[in-house]
Amino acid sequence: MSTELLTRPAPSTSIFVPELVYFEPDALLYPKGKQIYAWAQQEGLEIHMTTSHNQIRDLPGESDLDKYRIAKRTLVVGLRKTLKFETSKPSAEYAIPIATGCMGHCHYCYLQTTMGAKPYIRVYVNIDDILDAAKRYIEEREPEITRFEAACTSDPVGLEHISGSLKQIIEFMGQQEHGRLRFVTKYHHVEPLLDAKHNKHTRFRFSVNADYVIKNFEPGTSRFHERIEAAGKVAKAGYPLGFIIAPIIWHDGWEEGYRTLLEKLHHTLPPKATQDLTFEMIQHRFTKTAKNIIEKRYPKTKLEMDEEKRKYKWGKYGKGKYVYKDEQATALREFITEQIFEKFPQAKIEYFT
Ligand code: SF4
Repeated sequence: MSTELLTRPAPSTSIFVPELVYFEPDALLYPKGKQIYAWAQQEGLEIHMTTSHNQIRDLPGESDLDKYRIAKRTLVVGLRKTLKFETSKPSAEYAIPIATGCMGHCHYCYLQTTMGAKPYIRVYVNIDDILDAAKRYIEEREPEITRFEAACTSDPVGLEHISGSLKQIIEFMGQQEHGRLRFVTKYHHVEPLLDAKHNKHTRFRFSVNADYVIKNFEPGTSRFHERIEAAGKVAKAGYPLGFIIAPIIWHDGWEEGYRTLLEKLHHTLPPKATQDLTFEMIQHRFTKTAKNIIEKRYPKTKLEMDEEKRKYKWGKYGKGKYVYKDEQATALREFITEQIFEKFPQAKIEYFT
């Protein structure tokens, strides 16, 4: 290999640009809708109109798989009509809806099931309505603090260059005495958010994992080194920082994988980033429905989804999921917790689930 190849920096994960863009007519009455329309024109994207963001039926593609891939590169710009927020335990009280869908191709992603046959990406332009609703939720719980999670149905950082919504919500929460925001991302395109007036009311989290997991199951997302570099910038900008290790996957060499992950974090994070740091840990789980969908969409996946090897955990409305058996879950939790405390003694572990 030539020296040039060895010294050349790893290519950067490119920012998302959709292939198709659909607009609901009403979206164009809002400044954000107009701004996205102008951007799509400037980028030379194929633009269509649609009666409703729930009604996109004419996506190109011969097979279901083709349609799925194209849907992941399709942006739909519309209005958020439902302003009733879902709950978002354990990370926050409510999910704040600013986008639905994601361009990433993480095999295990729960959007596979929650978005069903509509995996295209929707962004909402009526941000003032969404913020008004958030304000009402905050007032209902005063003087308690109300936390909102902005990444329940999407990866909003990866869409920020298109919508600008995250910055608006960050700045809104910055002014709320009793409101807090949090979100998680696998993308490193954080520049537009670095100068936001966050007032430390937003916890910026990055999703990280052992190399094996990132390499095998997270195509289409930023690489580990890019996420960590971005985490350093975010910490420098004064945001409280967090990491979500999820999904934690039992694989050959998992101890080494997760030890190395924590070591790399420890070596690369600037000291400032470690002052107010949180960790959340989520073990891999799947439902029967998810397994069927994942096997169709990623037929060669190495994701282990053998019900026999798992424990069935009953959930709400009789819908359960498969998690690791107790002894494996305990081993994962204890080992990773130890690694976190060894490297980041001041960090707070918020939960393992
Ligand atoms: Fe799903 Fe997050 Fe991956 Fe997007 S980046 S596909 S939201 S897990």
